[in-house]
Amino acid sequence: MNKEIEEKIILYPSNWLYNAGVIGFLKVLEFGKKLNENTVFDQNTVVLHREWIKESYELLDYYHKEKLGENFSIWGKNKRYPNYIHTTQKEFFKEHFVPALSSANNNSGKCCNWCEGYFIPKEELERLKLNWIKERKENGKKREKNKNIIESFNNFLKQREVFQGIHIKELGAAFTEMPNSFWNLNFSTPLCHLCSYLIIFHHLAFQKIEKNYQIFINTPHFRLTWDLNKFAEKILAIQKKYEIPKVLGNSLLQWTIKMKPLLGAWTMMNIEMIIKKRATIDYFDFPFHITKILLDYEIADLINRIREEKIFDLILNGKFSEIEKVNYFVLRTLIRLKNNESISKNDPVTNYLDEYKNKNQLLNISKLLPELYAKLTTILTKEIDMNEKFINIMVWKLKETGKIIPKEVAESIDKLGFRLLEQIRLGNKDNVFYMLLRCFAGNNKKLPEELVEIFKPEYDDHFKILIYAFLAPIFGEELKQTKGGEEE
Ligand SMILES: [Zn+2]
Repeated sequence: MNKEIEEKIILYPSNWLYNAGVIGFLKVLEFGKKLNENTVFDQNTVVLHREWIKESYELLDYYHKEKLGENFSIWGKNKRYPNYIHTTQKEFFKEHFVPALSSANNNSGKCCNWCEGYFIPKEELERLKLNWIKERKENGKKREKNKNIIESFNNFLKQREVFQGIHIKELGAAFTEMPNSFWNLNFSTPLCHLCSYLIIFHHLAFQKIEKNYQIFINTPHFRLTWDLNKFAEKILAIQKKYEIPKVLGNSLLQWTIKMKPLLGAWTMMNIEMIIKKRATIDYFDFPFHITKILLDYEIADLINRIREEKIFDLILNGKFSEIEKVNYFVLRTLIRLKNNESISKNDPVTNYLDEYKNKNQLLNISKLLPELYAKLTTILTKEIDMNEKFINIMVWKLKETGKIIPKEVAESIDKLGFRLLEQIRLGNKDNVFYMLLRCFAGNNKKLPEELVEIFKPEYDDHFKILIYAFLAPIFGEELKQTKGGEEE
């Protein structure tokens, strides 16, 4: 049983550089059709099969040629990992060192700051040393003293046991700020042989935005990191505008819609974007509440259905109260279109909607915005009391009520149009109440209970959004030319 466990190496998420190395490593294996996405991830870890280590090195070259159109090199002067190994060590590294890595274990007693410490075992190291000496002698250094050869071997090993410039050339340059998980990324940090190897895949996890500008989404969960970067890749392939918050926000949104995730708070708090720009490394992350919102399935679904970039921007920028304002502009525009009025280019609605001339889209949005706003406030309220949960139900109820009010009442409300909206916007609850009351009473109809309810003080915070929910089907129904109000 124990032996079976040892056959595989479990990799736990660590700092972003290590995580990027693991993701790059998996990308190469995926390219070589060695990877099964469904079994490689287990909870937040990666289950690494030992034979992948040798295969990954063989695939590295192939991947660079086929996908990136370049020759990969880690020896001597090279563009990615200068002097990672000496040019004369090329064969030794490929034929002996990398294969020996697959026997690495975590019980050497030596320490690695990034992982559990996977070192090549002693007996295997002895074998490596003999091969080193043999190659050295064959390479025309026959007269070199054994002592010197052994010293060069020890130096080679030492380089693979300390984190240094050969692992990331940007390290010597300025780090503008300290990303969340950056605390353990220092010079002279003890590393294990496996970490030192995985790191030469890290550049593959980064996506090119433009020349000398690359990004990587890092999280403390390998599956999440894998998926988010795939979504980012797709988004970058379509989008021509590259705003960092948008790419991250959109990736989170797409992930939520496809995966319907349940993530712990700690994971959500540690989702960050690593940005490599020329020689600097920077990072970006959202405030916790924004991440939480984007990872909420119902909210993500509403944002997706609203299909308006600028409303998405409001959310990314945390301008939630503006959503209520947009709701007002949308309803006002809906009335204007119905009256065949033209929409001026300076109308505030144009600041928020691309499709402000499309009646169906306005109706769609006017129905979704109250729901979105109610859900946002539910998430943002720290203690979700019954009242908050109830708002979601109220929004739905009022929309339904608006759909079935008597036709003549709907017409009276319709006539009020802008005047009514203006009173709502100003928060003149009494005026709104009497205006609506007149519409019902004037037609010998009773005010629906649900509508009366929202004028109570406990709904003060959500009054506007609730009444907008009620009005959306009234202002929009005729446009849709569906059924009118039903007689009581
Ligand atoms: Zn390690």
